[in-house]
Amino acid sequence: MSKYIFVTGGVVSALGKGIAAAATGALLEAKGLKVTLQKLDPYINVDPGTLSPFQHGEVYVTDDGAETDLDLGHYERFTSIRTSQANNFTTGKIYYNVITKERRGDYLGETVQVIPHITDEIKRAIKSVSDGYDVVIVEIGGTIGDIESLPFLEAIRQIRYDVGRENVLYIHLTLIPYIKTAGEIKTKPTQHSVKEIRGIGIQPDIILCRTEWPLPPDVKKKIAIHCNLDVDAVIAARDVDTIYEVPLMLHYEGLDHLISKKFNLNPIEPDLSPWKDIVRKIKEPKNEVTIAIVGKYTGLKDSYKSLMEALIHGGIANDARVNLQWIDSEEIEVHGPERFLSEVDGILVPGGFGYRGIEGKVKAIKFAREKKIPYFGICLGMQCAVIEFARNVCGLSANSTEFDLNTKDPVIYLMERWYDYKKEGVEVRSESSHKGGTMRLGAYPCVLKEGTNALKAYGNKELSERHRHRYEFNNAYRGILTRHGLKISGLSPDGELVEMIEIEDHPWFVGCQFHPEFKSRPTDPHPLFRAFIEASVREKRSLFPSLEIEDEEKRRGI
Ligand code: GLN
Repeated sequence: MSKYIFVTGGVVSALGKGIAAAATGALLEAKGLKVTLQKLDPYINVDPGTLSPFQHGEVYVTDDGAETDLDLGHYERFTSIRTSQANNFTTGKIYYNVITKERRGDYLGETVQVIPHITDEIKRAIKSVSDGYDVVIVEIGGTIGDIESLPFLEAIRQIRYDVGRENVLYIHLTLIPYIKTAGEIKTKPTQHSVKEIRGIGIQPDIILCRTEWPLPPDVKKKIAIHCNLDVDAVIAARDVDTIYEVPLMLHYEGLDHLISKKFNLNPIEPDLSPWKDIVRKIKEPKNEVTIAIVGKYTGLKDSYKSLMEALIHGGIANDARVNLQWIDSEEIEVHGPERFLSEVDGILVPGGFGYRGIEGKVKAIKFAREKKIPYFGICLGMQCAVIEFARNVCGLSANSTEFDLNTKDPVIYLMERWYDYKKEGVEVRSESSHKGGTMRLGAYPCVLKEGTNALKAYGNKELSERHRHRYEFNNAYRGILTRHGLKISGLSPDGELVEMIEIEDHPWFVGCQFHPEFKSRPTDPHPLFRAFIEASVREKRSLFPSLEIEDEEKRRGI
């Protein structure tokens, strides 16, 4: 029988509930338990695929092609799980299932209601992921007090009765603000939040208090008394320098010990050495590089969450601090690339949609190619690299049909027919079937060519990576582009879909049609991010050989 941990949040949003849930998963895995995580989102969209990145941050893609909440990215980065469709349910998806059943006549004339039909569907969703796991951690999106989250809270309240109270734990995450003028930390918002959740029938077993300051014993005691808990169940979740320190911090605060005690599990000490190693490399790196990310949503960093993390992982692999410089590609369109890119060690153009900012990205890529600065193009970043090469090296009037339907040289276009390895059948698309179900989503296989930077990075010819795009490399232009020095380094197994490109006579210029950032972990940095940061460190060294000595001197305090 699996044990369930439900993580709710109170007081304010953005307290890092996803990271708290993921780090709890990491701690339990470090104790040798089999753990899975799930996110329940109260909003009504069936999935986040159609949400603006400005509003909701990154759309995280799973192997099975689900477009999910970015917290699933945290789950994959902190634990060994690979998530799927079933790890993220929204109110929309739950209602969609119930309404489909109602239309089919499954309810045999019953009046379909929130309780029990919606709550039963939620419980089914939760139980659907539990098979084979010791612990299932379920994070409830939103904040206590939201109208939309009520059915989810009712469902998790009921589960305790379905599976037995010894198998369920409720963790409530709150904020302990520090009032500067009074010089005091305040527990009242936590008391109110716990009162609210108890009103719904849920008594938290553990309270995680987000706080900038350590919690003195008398404050913990006050929270414990007001919230009906033992003092050791009030845990200070202090701010830390890097999110990868959270498992360590929660362990020192006694969280995993407390969970073992409450669940009657073997109190094995977790092996946290990999996390200690990661934190050390992040805090005391030997090298340092600056990477420019040239994109459109640079105002909202959350829309590039996995990308930012994967770059940090690339840094961990190279003992390097990775400083990120966010550059709005429209600024490059106006002012040119020199002003923004002359001092960076690597340039990255990430995924994106729509024409706005494209010409600035193409200019940035030309700069990277000509000045021999390491370049990494992801999805749209690869497509723009192909456009740039076609225009400036092959002399074509190239574009993607996404940006100019009537372009003379559509080097990137909607491929009308292609073999879909996932669906195991031929996929047909056209410009008129533009939005909707025509995206290539989820994991697809790719085969690498000999003698490429891609193969050098992966060390393995066959790979599988996650996609989220509509447009593809146009095979009609393979001849002219390759004759001018563009290398096709990765292809689908039937050789039809170009998955990776690179160019010769350049320290490291690689583009991929997929999103490698989704599969990178701090404990296992993605090969392409590792290689990109490695090239950026190497090129910086070759420009400034004295840096190594200076760094070493600085490190030793000379
Ligand atoms: N807009 C491009 C396409 O749909 C690239 C998408 C992306 O970068 N994820 O093909």
